Amino acid sequence: METVFDGPVDPALIERSLAASAFGSMWLDIPRPDHPPLTEPITCDLLVIGGGYTGLWTALHATERNPDRRIVLIEANRIGWAASGRNGGFVDASLTHGAENGKTRWPNEIETLDKMGVENLDGMQSDILRLGLDAEWQRTGMLSVATEPHQVDWLRDAADGGEGRLLDTEQARAEVNSPTYLAALYSPDTCAIVHPAKLALELARACADAGVHIYERTNATRLDSGRLALRVDTGAATVTARQAVLASNVYPSLLRRNRLRTVPFYNDALTTEPLTVAQLTRIGWRGRQGVGDCANQFHYYRLTMDNRIVWGGYDAVYHFGRKVDAAYEDRAATYRRLAAHFFITFPQLDDVRFSHRWAGAIDTNTRFCAHWGLARDDRVAYVNGFTGLGVGAARFAADVCLDLLEGSPTPRTELQMVRERPLPFPPEPFASVGIHATRWSLDRADHSAGHRNIFLRTLDALGLGFDS
Ligand SMILES: Cc1cc2nc3c(=O)[nH]c(=O)nc-3n(C[C@H](O)[C@H](O)[C@H](O)COP(=O)(O)OP(=O)(O)OC[C@H]3O[C@@H](n4cnc5c(N)ncnc54)[C@H](O)[C@@H]3O)c2cc1C
Repeated sequence: METVFDGPVDPALIERSLAASAFGSMWLDIPRPDHPPLTEPITCDLLVIGGGYTGLWTALHATERNPDRRIVLIEANRIGWAASGRNGGFVDASLTHGAENGKTRWPNEIETLDKMGVENLDGMQSDILRLGLDAEWQRTGMLSVATEPHQVDWLRDAADGGEGRLLDTEQARAEVNSPTYLAALYSPDTCAIVHPAKLALELARACADAGVHIYERTNATRLDSGRLALRVDTGAATVTARQAVLASNVYPSLLRRNRLRTVPFYNDALTTEPLTVAQLTRIGWRGRQGVGDCANQFHYYRLTMDNRIVWGGYDAVYHFGRKVDAAYEDRAATYRRLAAHFFITFPQLDDVRFSHRWAGAIDTNTRFCAHWGLARDDRVAYVNGFTGLGVGAARFAADVCLDLLEGSPTPRTELQMVRERPLPFPPEPFASVGIHATRWSLDRADHSAGHRNIFLRTLDALGLGFDS
């Protein structure tokens, strides 16, 4: 069975639209202040490893909890250069990678998780306002759109479960005019959009203002624990720290025990040139909502402040051996597929060109949302596994890491979701075989009115099933 995205698109249109696109995240095309590399040994109370959202929120909230603490943040490359500077900028309230995943795994605490997720989103908004962070925060809400008949039922169920307001075909197209839409679910309160790289850079500015010492181009290569302190080697210098938070996301963990817990997937995005008023009028989109379609392989898209469309998703590519490598980022076939799907969604924008194309690695575990832990006599906290929904969840994750290091139970650390660890992925070649079988089956499900085959149903029964 074909889906709407299997429809024909003129190959010349695709080639033309991508011909002048620059490779690299459009979000990172802004002035970025330099922080020095670490060249001398230093001592601190808290060392944060990783300068994406997780590390930055951790450092910022740590200063707010205890302004006298000496806090150091080290970043192997540049602040926000990785996933935090390449994502779609959807800030979702969900802490569990969507309602369905959360409901299935933690039915008894999903209400609490949903409440904490909305509190986290509201808290992020007030932090941004209070600190005057120029991150282009817009509380637009989210439009989930059905492009296949079976997805209309999913949206109706979600609306019945209180996740938003169901829009019929005409109402959906009145919001954003695509001939592919059959219905939509509008959730006004649980999603904001943001400029991803500005958020990271502005968080770094707030951290520095609050006294955090930030070092870029400083790669932690080894973590040792002595009787009184942790010692982190960066090649050029050593950091001696009382406590540390590992916020290194998809990159190899300094803790061997975590190496099999996550795998990297590559996710790709395109952005258009700024739309003219005439082009924008053709698609409506006056509410500027974040939009996502609801297949297993889904697209996400949104407007920027200067009226570009950022268009990403669909493929999630795994490479044998769990490798994260810049060489995987420029996949012509993926960009062509994304461009084709863009023109199927918006045929009235066939005069629009793409200005940028890029990819980034996301960190996935077997439960598809963050997991936490403590190591080295409870002096090191870590979090991993955001699986493509970490922009909002990273702030919550940072608070959990700080709670864990403080040691007294809090409503966050008492959550079953926080106390449980996911099963690891198997070593290669089993990881590759399993992941490719899962991806193939998810694609088949999208082509079979959502029906999950026996392989997916077995994974579901084992608590290892992915549901976007
Ligand atoms: C293309 C794409 C689109 C996405 N879209 C969305 C979206 O719209 N909404 C959403 O919620 N999520 C989205 N995500 C996921 C989201 O971006 C991530 O979950 C989030 O940015 C994770 O933040 P982080 O700080 O944990 O990781 P990162 O931003 O990856 O930061 C980790 C940092 O740690 C550093 N580091 C690693 N190891 C070391 C070391 N040993 N020493 C020093 N530094 C180290 C790295 O250099 C890196 O800068 C997307 C991801 C991608 C790739």
